[in-house]
Amino acid sequence: MIAANNPSLKSWIETPANTDFPIQNIPFGIVKIGRGQPRMATIIGDTVIDLSALSELGYLDNLSLDKSVFYLSVINDFMALGKETTRAVRDRISTIFQQDNAELRDHADHKAQILYPIDDVQNLMPVEVGDYTDFYSSREHATNIGTMFRDPANALMPNWLHLPVGYHGRASSIVVSGTPIHRPKGQQMPKGADMPVYGPCKLLDFELEMAFVVGKSSKLGASVSTEEAEDYIFGLCLFNDWSARDIQKWEYVPLGPFLGKSFASSMSPWIVTLDALDHFRISGPVQDDPVVLPYLQYKGDKRYNIKLEVLLQIEGSAPHSISNSNYKYMYWNMCQQLAHHTVNGCNLSVGDLYGSGTISGTTPDSYGSMLELCWQGTKPIPMPDGEERKFLQDGDTLILRGFGEKDGLRIGFGEVSGKVLPAL
Ligand code: MN
Repeated sequence: MIAANNPSLKSWIETPANTDFPIQNIPFGIVKIGRGQPRMATIIGDTVIDLSALSELGYLDNLSLDKSVFYLSVINDFMALGKETTRAVRDRISTIFQQDNAELRDHADHKAQILYPIDDVQNLMPVEVGDYTDFYSSREHATNIGTMFRDPANALMPNWLHLPVGYHGRASSIVVSGTPIHRPKGQQMPKGADMPVYGPCKLLDFELEMAFVVGKSSKLGASVSTEEAEDYIFGLCLFNDWSARDIQKWEYVPLGPFLGKSFASSMSPWIVTLDALDHFRISGPVQDDPVVLPYLQYKGDKRYNIKLEVLLQIEGSAPHSISNSNYKYMYWNMCQQLAHHTVNGCNLSVGDLYGSGTISGTTPDSYGSMLELCWQGTKPIPMPDGEERKFLQDGDTLILRGFGEKDGLRIGFGEVSGKVLPAL
């Protein structure tokens, strides 16, 4: 077992009950403290740990690292050090903050330079995303969409059970939690019309997703097997793949999503390592009808039991829970997605981000988009104060939360939130 994952560890940093960030998590992110430069950080409970200060004051000296990596404005170079090194850093941080370790605990002057309350810190984009790919890997979601737009009897396209369907998304518009999103504009073809119209999107939606970040590059022409894939996956975050359904519907034939997706996607700020999620592995769905090709077959537990919640906040009201799903509703796992992505020789780069695709559960209260929750606008969601929603309106804030919980240990992601502003 990875030392930092030990469920019995306790920290001398006080943590609130049900925190997403116990000492067993130790995610990585980028923060700005006051007027200082961006730097790498981690978090225990509600306390942010400045890793540049921790390293500068000598606490990571035994790892013989280049300290400059903690002063960069993204974690790409840190991830690129490789899992042996990043795992050693996570284990060392775990050791420093364990209850009975006095080296920093009893050093008030150093603590003042290293520790900050979360409220005094601004989270920045943790990763420079080079390429972004989005999959379509939840069978329940793909079945819902196929039922709505095509044929309930043949909801899945003929390729769906043979390969993880995906498309290349847009990296430049990926933003960190808290960044407001302007309603996109574009072409739409209104029902019954024979000419398209241009204007602000009317059917603005979210997509409940998780995303993983690649921490190791591969060579052009080479393929990564399902067995090797985990070595390339550094960690995960929550991901809201904002979608303009009316723009998407008119533009997507025959090449797939384009401007209906590329205007924005939001990610949670702390990258939780794949290592930290080890406790929450579960077995995958049986894939024998049809049997998948050998390059997509895999051994071991590659799915993760991570509870996901969607909250919608209307301006002036409290956040209101509208869906509860789970990352386990994935037919294709991350290792299969990477194996498929590279089977043609396409190379991976450090900082690449891979969206899971919308994660919908089996029941109508577990769907991962407004499109499904309101079933194409036919079943509005009742909201507090007598309001209702079919799609997102200006002023609405959409929040995703997620955590795994097992045997009293909870490892979470915090949240990703974004407010919808009027079209510019
Ligand atoms: Mn998506």
